[in-house]
Amino acid sequence: MAKQEDVFKTIIAHAKEYGFVFQSSEIYDGLSAVYDYGQNGVELKNNIKRYWWEAMTMLHDNIVGIDSAIFMHPTIWKASGHVDAFNDPLIDNRDSKKRYRADVLIEDEIAKFDDKINKEVAKAAKRFGESFDEAMFRQTNPRVLEHQQKRDALHNRFSEAMNANDLAELKQIILDYEIVDPISGTKNWTDVRQFNLMFKTEMGSTADGAMDVYLRPETAQGIFVNYLNVQKTGRMRLPFGIAQIGKAFRNEIVARQFIFRMREFEQMEMQFFVRPGEELKWFDFWRQTRLRWHKALGLGDGKYRYHDHEKLAHYANAATDIEFLMPFGFKEVEGIHSRTNFDLSQHEKFSGKKIQYFDPELGESYVPYVIETSIGVDRMFLSVFCSCYEDQDLGNGDRRAVLHFPPALAPVKCAVLPLVKKDGLPEKAREIQHRLRFDFTCQVDEKDSIGKRYRRQDAIGTPFCITVDHQTLEDNTVTLRHRDTMEQERVAVDDLEKILSEKVNLNTLLKKLL
Ligand code: ATP
Repeated sequence: MAKQEDVFKTIIAHAKEYGFVFQSSEIYDGLSAVYDYGQNGVELKNNIKRYWWEAMTMLHDNIVGIDSAIFMHPTIWKASGHVDAFNDPLIDNRDSKKRYRADVLIEDEIAKFDDKINKEVAKAAKRFGESFDEAMFRQTNPRVLEHQQKRDALHNRFSEAMNANDLAELKQIILDYEIVDPISGTKNWTDVRQFNLMFKTEMGSTADGAMDVYLRPETAQGIFVNYLNVQKTGRMRLPFGIAQIGKAFRNEIVARQFIFRMREFEQMEMQFFVRPGEELKWFDFWRQTRLRWHKALGLGDGKYRYHDHEKLAHYANAATDIEFLMPFGFKEVEGIHSRTNFDLSQHEKFSGKKIQYFDPELGESYVPYVIETSIGVDRMFLSVFCSCYEDQDLGNGDRRAVLHFPPALAPVKCAVLPLVKKDGLPEKAREIQHRLRFDFTCQVDEKDSIGKRYRRQDAIGTPFCITVDHQTLEDNTVTLRHRDTMEQERVAVDDLEKILSEKVNLNTLLKKLL
């Protein structure tokens, strides 16, 4: 565990050192759980957003995008349930003065039973080798069964307390299971209280009668309240989807794990409107389609898993998370939810406007059902960043830090490096850059030794370095160095555009999805 923590610390330090992510307001000692993206971070982030946006809007005839405002009429948040129910149960430890989410403390306790079970299984798998029957072992091993029974008992008690919104019972669970504060090590807990996660501010001057407004905690409601606008003006027929990328804000109780849980973050959400009764078929479609999108990046298929929700929100009839193996375990990156017609019906009720679809095939009107896919840009960024980072041992005491980004996501696609800073090589490098810069982010770097420049480009994940030497002036060829293998090949300058575009263009990635 300690080792993984160290790896994560190194990754965070690398993100800062190479201009990917900075703590917000750093010169004022920072603002907790708020981050800024630097010169390389913004490029990576934009590429992730483009990959999502184009996969949604260009590859599907029936999905269009919008960009709705962050401020919305406050009644929207009443209708959506956020004013009354977008709460987390919080608990304080009187000794450490730290605040925790009571549900997370209990979930961590449940995870300890899972760990114990997994350890038993791993031990047995090693002992029995090829003949090991994991399913049978899980069903029959007495130690596994005992852990499983304890886990289920805790899980059931926890689910019941959460469903009943029983805060006293949540505290009792924490006491009964002797859960201690990881910092103070004590059980000196306060009562559990509900805490609303929305940021509130005022719109208009007080003289005019200011109105309380919220910073949106999700982008989805901007889509729901524009459903009629888009359906009518786009003459959309069901099934169809509306996609949106934008900022969301949550006053998270416990901000930790770098950009995993932020107070200001970005979401990429798509609401897919379908005929009632067909929602589970479409839920299944999006569940699979979204996993394919993730896997096409080539970060490793084994790093993903589904987590199907046992406890569903009252309006949902199916929900799954796509989890990714971060340095701190499998964590949610994306949620796929079948939200029934809850949101549109609520907006009908609260706005008094009819929000229905006339289905020409059925000859009737109804409130459409909705499948939502909701992914955090920053969590996606973190999963890409962590899984691509390598502190590579090159032998003979030599090491390099390298980011093996999927080429389409890399902030800089190629760097042109004149071998020496004289004899017309820098000028030739600029000439090559001018040819390439219309299609690719392309840097010229002439400072330091060529070895140091390669390392700098490896550290920001540039897939290709193009080295200009004296031979280039004679025969118009360059050395093309591949980031991952460090192999070098001699290629003609005239072929560079073609070679690079096949490898680094987003289209190459998008075509994998069809
Ligand atoms: P969690 O259980 O981790 O708080 P959630 O289930 O509340 O997440 P959703 O409301 O389903 O999250 O939001 C959809 C996506 O938005 C999440 O899968 C995640 O990628 C992203 N997201 C949610 N909260 C945050 C946050 N505080 N910081 C960064 N990304 C977030």
